Amino acid sequence: MKIHEFQAKQLFAQAGIVVPQSVVAKTPDEAAAAFEKLGGSLAVVKSQIHAGGRGKGRFKEQPEQAGVVLVRSADEARANAAKMLGNTLVTIQTGDEGKQVQTLLVEAGLNIARELYLAVVIDREVGKPLLMVSSEGGMDIEEVAEKTPEKILKEHFDADAGLFPFQARKLAFALGLEGNSIRHAEKLFRQVCQFFLDQDCSMAEINPLVVTKEGDLIPLDAKIMFDDNALFRHKDLVELRDLSEEEPMEVAAQNSGLSYVKLDGNLGCLVNGAGLAMSTMDIIKYHGGEPANFLDVGGGANVDQVTEAFRIILADPNVKGVLVNIFGGIMKCDTIVTALLAAYDNIGITVPLVVRLEGTNVELARKMLADSGKKIVTGTDLTDAAKKAVSAI
Ligand code: ADP
Ligand code: MG
Repeated sequence: MKIHEFQAKQLFAQAGIVVPQSVVAKTPDEAAAAFEKLGGSLAVVKSQIHAGGRGKGRFKEQPEQAGVVLVRSADEARANAAKMLGNTLVTIQTGDEGKQVQTLLVEAGLNIARELYLAVVIDREVGKPLLMVSSEGGMDIEEVAEKTPEKILKEHFDADAGLFPFQARKLAFALGLEGNSIRHAEKLFRQVCQFFLDQDCSMAEINPLVVTKEGDLIPLDAKIMFDDNALFRHKDLVELRDLSEEEPMEVAAQNSGLSYVKLDGNLGCLVNGAGLAMSTMDIIKYHGGEPANFLDVGGGANVDQVTEAFRIILADPNVKGVLVNIFGGIMKCDTIVTALLAAYDNIGITVPLVVRLEGTNVELARKMLADSGKKIVTGTDLTDAAKKAVSAI
């Protein structure tokens, strides 16, 4: 689960991490008032969306307007807010459709001496949390990782003990920090690692982490993701979820107990089992097609869930055909066919449909398909079905 920057900074503050003073604004007047409240000299107006690259991003409706702007008066704050709120911000991370800005964070402007990078992630290969820092903050870190990987410094830490002081100091020295900044870095690095562990994060990224002219280290940005599987023990975090930032069909799927991920292709797939869904997508691609989604109806889905799965797949206007691939174990093939025929009648399937069934009750299911009189193509095996689906599109 992702949260907004302003929420992440509130959580940081609760954990004792010093963040810049800021005020949340939802109207241009609130943005102007926030500017005054912050001391009235220099502030930054920041679009709150679940995506990065806002500083370089531009609005669809206002191509001159950036997603993060420095302002020097209340009027400037108000005017910028008016061009941002309700409009669609397109950044390198949002895709062409962009994201609508509904909330702004007005933040005190800082005197930046250096911009560093910091992130905590799980290193799955080593099986430990990993703190990464770099002197190349504020930039596209993927580019740094690709072109100058030696500029990203890494320190694994223990999930029980947290980051040790000597590990924090080692990184601080390697970043070339001096004087008071070393102590500030030691404290901050350890606080962020502890925050990551306490809140069951899957990622915590601060880019940039600035060194101020006074030598303090302050997070200017904060991107946090929580491990969904641990949310059951963080009821307070669940409340921070912003459904308007999520793909509506993915939310609908979750509510029905389906796992669905929307993709960019045009061949919808309905599959039972995550592994089978992955290999179905691979085979579609192997035969020249592009999957429109990942959809796992699970091992024991009922007719209602499968009907909902069809509704979700067909709601995507890009879908020009559907491949159903079922290996009936706990799931019975006739359940799928019952739902499929119901979907024909209730939703209306107008795109080509290719079905491959194997396993429990497959004979009954095939007979139901044949007797239905509907134009449904069947595949003898997965390769055959994938080829037929791709050529049908
Ligand atoms: P994004 O990563 O989405 O582009 P950031 O929060 O990193 O958004 O902001 C973009 C840039 O704006 C930062 O790299 C920094 O240079 C500047 N900036 C952000 N907040 C402040 C602030 N409080 N004071 C001064 N500059 C800021
Ligand atoms: Mg940033």
